[in-house]
Amino acid sequence: MSDPIRLPAAILFDLDDTLLDTSLSATRVWDQTAAAFAQEIGHRAEVFKPVLAASRAWYWGDPRRNRAGRLDVQRARVAVTHHGLQQLGIDDHGLATRFADYYSAHRVSTMAFFDGAEETLAHFVGAGVPLALITNGDAGGQRAKVDHFGLERYFQVVLIEGEQGFGKPDPRVYERALAACDAPAQASWCVGDSLAWEVAAPQRLGMTGVWNDWARRGLPADAAVVPDRVVGRVAELMETAARGD
Ligand SMILES: [Mg+2]
Repeated sequence: MSDPIRLPAAILFDLDDTLLDTSLSATRVWDQTAAAFAQEIGHRAEVFKPVLAASRAWYWGDPRRNRAGRLDVQRARVAVTHHGLQQLGIDDHGLATRFADYYSAHRVSTMAFFDGAEETLAHFVGAGVPLALITNGDAGGQRAKVDHFGLERYFQVVLIEGEQGFGKPDPRVYERALAACDAPAQASWCVGDSLAWEVAAPQRLGMTGVWNDWARRGLPADAAVVPDRVVGRVAELMETAARGD
């Protein structure tokens, strides 16, 4: 385990819920879409919103659906919406598809960097620390985020699950990222909100696993994984790394 106060040899960053406010903005755009379709659905957005939230939890809570949905997000959005509509007694696949299309059209533009996240990338690049972006999900959706936020310029390599054909926690992801940064695992950090993908798996390779607890919920009581460090925003990495300069 490296000393987290000193600058690392490289940092591997997760994208969703680490650099970008993916979950928070998802709620915003689902709400916006529910309002836009309220008349057609025949229920006010306030009625459909909790139904949709339950439907999202139902869909993404299943590991098999989660993997299939990550790689085909549009299909997942239609399935979530269709399931939600069915809870209201509406079995209309066409409506679910149009709802999901509206959502998708507004999805990336409603996302934002977490406070200080882009400054953090610039800070470490300026300090000479090579960075890698490692993100799971479908090629089109993840690439759209990378392009929209101009992320390529900060990273030695951008590894997208849907482009590579494999994703975290496959060790090849971290190994490829470290190789692109020309950095040893033992002196490098991996930062993200998933305890399995950005803490446990990289720790097994000797990396420092930093957990981004963006929702500030704290470690689950039954967590088998012990992060080397916990932050609430990636900008905290910048403050402490600066102290070790
Ligand atoms: Mg994430």
